Amino acid sequence: MVDEVGGLLCTHLKHPPPAGYVCLPLMAKGDVLGLLHIRNRAEEIRGDAARTERPWEDVSATLSEMLSLSLSNIRLRENLSNQSIRDPLTGLFNRRYVEENLQREISRAARKKEPVGVVMIDIDHFKTFNDLHGHAAGDRVLVELAGFLQSQMRGADIVCRYGGEEFTLILPECTLDNTIRRANQLVADARQTTVQDGGRTLGHITLSMGVAAYPEHGANPAALLAAADAVLYKAKQAGRDRVVSA
Ligand code: GH3
Ligand code: MG
Ligand code: MG
Repeated sequence: MVDEVGGLLCTHLKHPPPAGYVCLPLMAKGDVLGLLHIRNRAEEIRGDAARTERPWEDVSATLSEMLSLSLSNIRLRENLSNQSIRDPLTGLFNRRYVEENLQREISRAARKKEPVGVVMIDIDHFKTFNDLHGHAAGDRVLVELAGFLQSQMRGADIVCRYGGEEFTLILPECTLDNTIRRANQLVADARQTTVQDGGRTLGHITLSMGVAAYPEHGANPAALLAAADAVLYKAKQAGRDRVVSA
């Protein structure tokens, strides 16, 4: 394919490119992955007369085939790795990723003597929302909420869909107090937002959140997530639409 296209480009053009360079598409299964541009300074200097004898074009074509294959392998590996750590509905990281990554963040925080904030989020009465408006509208709420949470995060923060209508935030270098403040802001913002669906207003959703932090509430992912989950349960019991801290 590369030979065909590369050859076409180089030999059948009405106005062939000047001597001294080749451009070859990097292709895999019909997709263009990039373009390989090689310059040969010696030939460039000799000028157009050199265009008839260009042995280095064969090498370029082989090189572009090898690069195409490598790029397509990297892309395949990235896709597979994304599928194992991403939730397909929202595109957020999944529970497996949280648990693995929280360990890494705790270790880093321990070395640097810094805090890590953890927030467990659960949509209130989401079953009722689904029952009233349908599962598809419920799915759109999950996607919107995922986008909203991501838009409120800083660079190093991690947003995950922990499962169902539950989300988890990991906030590196965020103290317990700041984590509580940020969680309260999210709960207030959600309360103010109306859920729209194709021009129709479907009402509001509210969020309950449980907050815990390293080092106060645990030094491993299981302990921190359990602490945040326990106070999320308390937020539900206390009437929902609120933040409770461990
Ligand atoms: P609570 O305030 O106590 O959290 O009430 P709830 O109704 O949100 O909690 P419950 O655990 O009873 O129900 C969770 C609901 O979340 C039920 C389920 O239909 C809905 N849900 C979970 N995953 C999805 C999903 O992927 N899409 C949609 N549309 N709904 C989901
Ligand atoms: Mg739930
Ligand atoms: Mg819920």
